[in-house]
Amino acid sequence: MSVQDDLWFDPSKCFIAGKWVAPAGGETLSLENPSDGSEIARIARGGRTDVDAAAHAAMNGEWGRKTALERGRILTRIGQLVLERVDELARLEAADVGKPLKQARADAVALARYMEFYGGAADKIHGETIPYLDGYTVYTLREPHGVTGHIVPWNYPMQIIGRSVGGALTMGNAAVLKPAEEACLTALAFAAIAQEAGLPEGALNVVPGLGEEAGAALSSHPDINHISFTGSVGVGVLIQKAAAENIVPVTLELGGKSPQIVFEDADLDAALPFLVNAGVQNAGQTCSASSRILVQRGIYDKLTAMMAERYRALKVGPAMADLDVGPLISARQKEIVEGFVSHADPAHILAQASVVDSAPEGGHYFPPTLYGGIDPDDPLAQNEIFGPVQAIIPFDTEAEALKIANGTAYGLVASIWTRDGARQMRLAKAIKSGQVFINNYGAGGGVELPFGGVGKSGHGRAKGFEALYGFSVLKTVAAHHG
Ligand code: NAP
Ligand code: MG
Repeated sequence: MSVQDDLWFDPSKCFIAGKWVAPAGGETLSLENPSDGSEIARIARGGRTDVDAAAHAAMNGEWGRKTALERGRILTRIGQLVLERVDELARLEAADVGKPLKQARADAVALARYMEFYGGAADKIHGETIPYLDGYTVYTLREPHGVTGHIVPWNYPMQIIGRSVGGALTMGNAAVLKPAEEACLTALAFAAIAQEAGLPEGALNVVPGLGEEAGAALSSHPDINHISFTGSVGVGVLIQKAAAENIVPVTLELGGKSPQIVFEDADLDAALPFLVNAGVQNAGQTCSASSRILVQRGIYDKLTAMMAERYRALKVGPAMADLDVGPLISARQKEIVEGFVSHADPAHILAQASVVDSAPEGGHYFPPTLYGGIDPDDPLAQNEIFGPVQAIIPFDTEAEALKIANGTAYGLVASIWTRDGARQMRLAKAIKSGQVFINNYGAGGGVELPFGGVGKSGHGRAKGFEALYGFSVLKTVAAHHG
């Protein structure tokens, strides 16, 4: 079965005002399958004219006039249709991103879960009454921003669309979505499904294209009232500058260097799968990847041996073979990862996974690599590599572990592995990070859990009810009635 069998929409079009339209410039871009380097499809090279049309459609749609109950029902229906199409969506994402089929399937299920959660939340967000002066009644209204822009990366298209576009739609905003040039099939599929579920025209518009063209046009567009961006720090800076020119709020999710801290009293068998999976899942191309493992000296030899054994057992191969790890997204990403590794001391390599012999030549395979005895200031322990590379850093005391954990420019996710309850509480407070997990990592991604960073990991919160506050504006009404 080829990917083309799953394309029930035309991937070379933009989706604007409920219609599939060719980009104004008439050009298309090649979409690559990272597992073998072949062309999957041609996609639209959208630009400023298409973004203009999308913003115009979004401004004039009827979505913002629907009741919260109506919005919730449509979002829930989208979730149901996503569940009905989980297998097709998983195959599209696996082909497009290179992630093993079961991980792509989990992403499709997560997309459905976002829509269910937000569908249920739509009519449960409300304002308050505020006690004020005698003779007044004061209340607040939560209103949509209007038109929201969403610029998403290639690593988890479905999950990020779910949390970003899903949250915005919940509060009555319309959305213009610019997926990544390297992976945009499920963004288009999502638009087709949303339309089938009854999302009115203009509520969601998708303009694929290059970041410097469609992305830049979207982030600087005067009719966009809120921007959500997930991606690199460098582009995040450009987005925030563009938003500043228009004085619009922006949510930035820019990745991290997330630590897991393992103390001597931890349950190592329970920790082991989390320690490794959080580094190699999606070939390490995860904003919340755990690329630093801080290990207390007394268990250092034991735990590094356990992790090394697990690394050696990992199998890397094409997405459709559904092994542990797939290829990196592109030749460029592979160069970036190899660049980091080429500067590291090979003597510190504890273990590497293997790429299966049947992996096609044209795929962008990189074997997960585990480094031990890494200094906290080493580039491997400081930079976001965005590949399946983990650095193990030894420590002696809790104070030292905390200093190392907080010693990067980032702060997205952290975890603490210890049975000592007081230590859990102390560190959960002291770690600079948007999320802290105790004796687990990631907790399944949880749509219910507010997510976002501090420092260079960005600002603003996705997921949970907190995201819905961000996707709405509070209006205060003070009535004087004597
Ligand atoms: P990126 O350039 O930041 O891409 C993210 C999104 O921004 C894509 O949709 C991209 O479009 C768009 N974009 C690029 N330039 C833009 C511009 N001038 N104005 C508006 N939008 C723009 O990330 P990348 O190049 O794909 O990956 C590079 C590095 O970013 C990775 O190595 C990793 O460190 C980090 N990253 C982080 C995350 C995360 O989840 N936090 C996700 C992906 C990447 P196009 O792709 O179509 O150009
Ligand atoms: Mg890119």
